[in-house]
Amino acid sequence: MFEAYKGTVICASKYYDVTEIRKLYQKGVHDFGENRVQDLLKKQEELKDLDITWHFIGHLQTNKVKDVINRIDSLHTLDRLHLAESIQKCALKPVKCMIQVNLTEETQKSGVLLSNLDQFLLEIKKYDKIKLIGFMTIGKDHDDKATELAFQACDMLANKYQLPYRSMGMSDDYELAIKHHTTHLRIGRKFMEYLV
Ligand SMILES: *Cc1c(COP(=O)(O)O)cnc(C)c1O
Repeated sequence: MFEAYKGTVICASKYYDVTEIRKLYQKGVHDFGENRVQDLLKKQEELKDLDITWHFIGHLQTNKVKDVINRIDSLHTLDRLHLAESIQKCALKPVKCMIQVNLTEETQKSGVLLSNLDQFLLEIKKYDKIKLIGFMTIGKDHDDKATELAFQACDMLANKYQLPYRSMGMSDDYELAIKHHTTHLRIGRKFMEYLV
C-alpha cells in the first residue's frame, strides 16, 4: 500500500483488536499507535511476545501520564505545558515527543496554535525528560486545500526548528502528507483492506 514511501507507517489501532493486530504484524506492520491509555496497556500486555513499537497518538490526560509514559516509544501529542510538567515528573528517562500543532485553527481541535509556538518551545526547554523530535498535525476533514496547507506548514516548522520528524497523514490524506515530507503516517481505517 505504501511501498514507495520510505518513512514509518504507524497503524492507528483504535479500530483493531489484538487478533487483528497480530494479523497486521504478520504482514509487516510493526508500529502501532493508540489513542487511549487503557487500550494501549491492555493490548501491550496481550501482545508482549511481539516486537511492537508503541506510539501514543491520542489526547493524553495529565493524570494518566504515569501509567503510560514509560511504556511507549514516542508521544505524538504534546500539546500543553501541564502535560510537559507531568512528563517531567513521571518519566524515568527522556521521552521522544512531538508537539501537536493546530494548523487549521479549528477550535474543537487540540494542539498548540502557531501564535503560541515560540513561547511553548521556550518553556519546554527546561524539561530534560522531553526529547523533542518533531511536530504532529491533523488535516481538516473534507478540505484538501486546508489540509495541504497545514501539512506544508508542519513541514516548514520542522525545517525551521531543525527537528527531524513530522507525524502527519491518515487514511484520507496520506498522499498529501507524503508530498510534504511526512516521516510518520498514522493509518487507521485503510488497514482494513489488509485484513480481508
Ligand atoms: C484514528 C486516528 C488516525 C487514523 O485515522 P484514519 O482516518 O482511520 O486513518 C490517525 N491519527 C489519530 C490521532 C487518530 O486518532
